[in-house]
Amino acid sequence: MSSNTLKIERAAPPREDRLGAGTAFCGDCEALKSKIGIKGNGCLNQASRSFSQSFGCQFTLSLAILNTLQNTVVVVHGPVGCGFWSVGGLGASRGQKRLRDPSALSPIWISSNLDEHDVINGGEKKLCEAVLYADREFRPEAIVVASSCVPALIGDDVDAILEKLQRNVSAELVSVNCEGFKTRLMATAYDAVYNGILKNLTSRRIERESRAAGDNMDDMLWDYRKNHTVNVCNVGSMGRTDELELQRLLNALELNVNFLPCFTRPRDFRRVLDAALNVSICATHDDYYLKHIKEHFGIPYIIGAMPIGRKSTARWLMDIARFFNIEDRASALIEKEDAALDQALEPYRAALKGKRAYVSGGEIRIFVTGELLRDLGLEIAGYKAHHVDEFMKPFIEEVENPDKTFINVASQQPFEQANIVRRLNPDVIVIHTGSGNITSKHGIPVFPLFLPANSYMGYSGVFEVAYRLKRIISNCQYNRNMKRYRPLPYRAEWYEKEVFSYIK
Ligand code: SF4
Repeated sequence: MSSNTLKIERAAPPREDRLGAGTAFCGDCEALKSKIGIKGNGCLNQASRSFSQSFGCQFTLSLAILNTLQNTVVVVHGPVGCGFWSVGGLGASRGQKRLRDPSALSPIWISSNLDEHDVINGGEKKLCEAVLYADREFRPEAIVVASSCVPALIGDDVDAILEKLQRNVSAELVSVNCEGFKTRLMATAYDAVYNGILKNLTSRRIERESRAAGDNMDDMLWDYRKNHTVNVCNVGSMGRTDELELQRLLNALELNVNFLPCFTRPRDFRRVLDAALNVSICATHDDYYLKHIKEHFGIPYIIGAMPIGRKSTARWLMDIARFFNIEDRASALIEKEDAALDQALEPYRAALKGKRAYVSGGEIRIFVTGELLRDLGLEIAGYKAHHVDEFMKPFIEEVENPDKTFINVASQQPFEQANIVRRLNPDVIVIHTGSGNITSKHGIPVFPLFLPANSYMGYSGVFEVAYRLKRIISNCQYNRNMKRYRPLPYRAEWYEKEVFSYIK
């Protein structure tokens, strides 16, 4: 931990407090719209459930992001079971890392393996052993300590421990405070990871170093490049094909692009300072980080559209073009891409027309995906959002027939989903694969809202969604068999009850 690193809060606040976000609602889009307010004005923050089946833990999402970092060891500080995600996600993380750097190592993670004795005596000794071992054995650029519930409950001051330990290790030590029990909003993980990056890897000194070496010509070239470069934030919601599509579009506007934080090396966080603009692909992801970068380094940012579906992609590109004063160039590009896409989609439209989709996922992604599906001729049977906060407002405003469009706000809660799907009876469910165990038993084809190996963003994303969707809708025998031989576990009485029965 360098003395030049930023002085910011030790842990990001839960999003319930920071954004007044909520995780419980059931009704139509019109009713939800009227309840969303900027922090403090909305009442959704107070809603909860008298019965909750399951919800995501921010620790696991933090691991999903951290495991993508190149040349980094992740220390899971807690009981060994908290690291389960690192086992399940290993293959995907390794494959995606190697798409960016063929020589990249598999994610390396170790656990401090806290047990009952450590709950009494404290976890400091085991944490120090784990960090020293990681430094000695793997010689990484950075060691990230992700704290789970136990160290927070027993009062381990991980930031202070790492500060002391830093003198004895060559790796940069990073503390990420992402205890699962602190929030019901999994998305708080984005803030927790960014908090660690800001505290420990974003240095004022590095900016000066990168300017120090050149003569005048070097300086001019460096300035030119910086003034035509954008950082695009990827916290794991796009795979390499999506990055390449956005890069293709931005390069066509004669802009350079860096992607971060996922799949970068720790030292690459200096690059955030070598750009004219920071751009988010999803309002749910990056506001905490980008506001801090603007505050400390004066780099402006755009948080607006998500480049999924042609309407939203065009808006995303135009927002960037407006900043660089190149709207004409962007308009010409959008027109050309639109024409090519129209032609490419023609063979798929007949098979998709009139099909009804139920779309579940992040609060922004569901609406832009809904817009993409409507462009392909599908109808939206209903939405399910992981959570709701002020960032949803501009997107829900654009829903057609909001008083007739059903929406459920729930992180997981598969029992509510089962009831809803039975009532809506869609032709396809568009959802994250993590809930596949329950979702596959509805007997309805399931289309992944996101898979790192697939393409969703920009114009090629629209085409690939059409292509894959047609294939999945035409053959759903797998899901029919699942429904027949592995039925859902709920009693018939539950389906008679209202979906919102347990929402307070
Ligand atoms: S909720 Fe706490 S104990 Fe459970 S997996 Fe998440 S961090 Fe670990």
